[in-house]
Amino acid sequence: MTSERARDVEPFERARRTYLEVRAEAAVRALEQNGFRAHLVPSGEAAARAVLEMIGEGACVGLGGSLTLRQLGLPALLEARGVRMAQHWKAGLSPEEGLRVRREQLTADVFLTSVNAVTLQGELISVDGIGNRVAATIFGPGRVIVVAGANKVVRDVSEGLARVRNVAAPINALRLGVPTPCAELGYCTDCRRPERICRVVTIIERKPALTDLTVLLVPEELGI
Ligand code: SF4
Repeated sequence: MTSERARDVEPFERARRTYLEVRAEAAVRALEQNGFRAHLVPSGEAAARAVLEMIGEGACVGLGGSLTLRQLGLPALLEARGVRMAQHWKAGLSPEEGLRVRREQLTADVFLTSVNAVTLQGELISVDGIGNRVAATIFGPGRVIVVAGANKVVRDVSEGLARVRNVAAPINALRLGVPTPCAELGYCTDCRRPERICRVVTIIERKPALTDLTVLLVPEELGI
């Protein structure tokens, strides 16, 4: 079994890893050309360490609604460091508290988030229902750190928008238990349902002029 795995599966896994690295490296170069600070980090663990190194003692850290950050264990790592966190995914928040926390994220010392797609032309694409995540990514916090898996690297904006609507939105709708057409069909119908979760789509084409924005790209499958 082990030798069969070594023969049949491991070459595939190595090739997949190389594929993700190649795409992440190309995206990092393109992001740098567009004014972003961008780095390829070898693993999710290394990304989490890099994030922690970028956060000073006593900082207030806003956490965007991001599966990637949770996969990296960042809420617990930050909590262990005694960092003050503004995270609206915390269990038990009332709607009023959720709103207050989202507003707090807009002026946090550091805002951590992911995006839904990174293009090979160096653009960042995100979809949002409320808009706090994309707003805080563009302007407000003292520093913004985006962490994304190379599974989110796409060729261009058109492919990125397709990913947002046919991958990220349906999976998010299923996660939230929202009865959108994409949750039922697995693809977007540009619905007019009141439950529509994709209400804001942003394409950040160049680093926003007054925002200190760093992108960490990881050659792994992270987030959706
Ligand atoms: S517009 Fe509607 S169907 Fe399309 S991705 Fe958004 S919620 Fe889903």
